[in-house]
Amino acid sequence: MHSGGVPQSTPCSAPSSSSTLPGSSLSPKSPADSQLTSKVIPIPARYQEPQPSPDFKIDVALLRSLTLTQVPVAESSPELLTGFMHCTGMLDALRAQYPGWPQPFPPPPRVYKIVPVEGAGLGVIATADIAVGETIVRERPILVTPQVFPLVTSDGGSVLDMTVDALHPANKRAFFALHNCKGKAAPSEVKAIMDTNGFPASCKFPVWGSTYMAVTRDASRINHSCCNNAVYSFDIATLTAFMRASRPIRAGEEITISYLNFPAQTAEGRQEELGRRYGFKCRCKTCRLTGAARLRSDMARLAILESALPSHIRADDAEFAMWLVRGAQLQLPAAAINPKTNAHPLGLAESVWAAMLQEGCYVFSTGLCESVLLRLVKACSVLQNEEAVRFYATQAALIRMAHTGSDGGWRAVAENPRRTDWWAKFTAKRKGVSRG
Ligand SMILES: [Zn+2]
Repeated sequence: MHSGGVPQSTPCSAPSSSSTLPGSSLSPKSPADSQLTSKVIPIPARYQEPQPSPDFKIDVALLRSLTLTQVPVAESSPELLTGFMHCTGMLDALRAQYPGWPQPFPPPPRVYKIVPVEGAGLGVIATADIAVGETIVRERPILVTPQVFPLVTSDGGSVLDMTVDALHPANKRAFFALHNCKGKAAPSEVKAIMDTNGFPASCKFPVWGSTYMAVTRDASRINHSCCNNAVYSFDIATLTAFMRASRPIRAGEEITISYLNFPAQTAEGRQEELGRRYGFKCRCKTCRLTGAARLRSDMARLAILESALPSHIRADDAEFAMWLVRGAQLQLPAAAINPKTNAHPLGLAESVWAAMLQEGCYVFSTGLCESVLLRLVKACSVLQNEEAVRFYATQAALIRMAHTGSDGGWRAVAENPRRTDWWAKFTAKRKGVSRG
């Protein structure tokens, strides 16, 4: 999500190459094994987005100290100014954490244009082929505010209206030019535009760790699709919003993101959420499916939804760990992988991954996507299926790149399947068993 806070590659939580799995009979390493394990590449831990502080912990005194700062203060180009609503002490804390905050950033080459799109007002169209993980849009927002703060001042005025009124005139024009899907239903036009166009802008700001919202000039023009090809993230160090490709995008294709809080739900559920929150009916290719194809899509999304529950992820992790301990390393690859059954932990990971691929719905934020790929990479390492390790590690690298701007260590795994800690450990174990 933010280049300064991208999680480091950490060795997986499984026993290290020098320890023994329960019930195993690990023999002393041969010289060849020692050489293999001397430069092992750790398989990365799965990425999990930081959780915001619960709202009930909000400090009312901090809320009363809200200040609007035009960032960067000395910048002469109004299109780079951001109206940043923050609590007392925030700027000092940011400068202490990120020297020179907001840090400069290299603008990416422009690979899109904003044009009218049939049935959706304006939209963003790719003007070049874009690879997975590549930055499409990177910009300073027009406005960044805490997601939850008092709407009404002591004299009855709207804090949000006053905030937008204080923006640089060029930014104010850009703000009011954005789409308003709420009409007069919202308390004010400003609130309606915020609700229509706001993105979560990280919950890792110092001082007050609640979620912030950002409204941007270009990224806020990107339309919704339930099979989106781009994902949004935010970098605090540079105060920039990102859109990166989550699928390969061809020149001329519309760039889309998901507006859904819950993308893994049936077509009916998605239409209900989009209608309630944004007042439109989605006509993406997944929502246009009918009959058996629609049923198949709905079932795949429900399978993803069920797997994404933290309790399910924990249970599947535990089951997978048992599978490894109980002798997966002794089975031949062909016997161990049965794609026709979901009863097997590896079969389950494969079927959830297949559902994610089919739907273009990866549920990255809860850690499901990488926990599934992690299991597949580890299992294929144990089964010494080098090609499969390369494939799944590459998928993990691309997906983490799109969401965070870093491959998180997956690229090294994809390039060196035989040098990972898991490959080395189970090679040693296999030899130990065959000798024993
Ligand atoms: Zn749709």
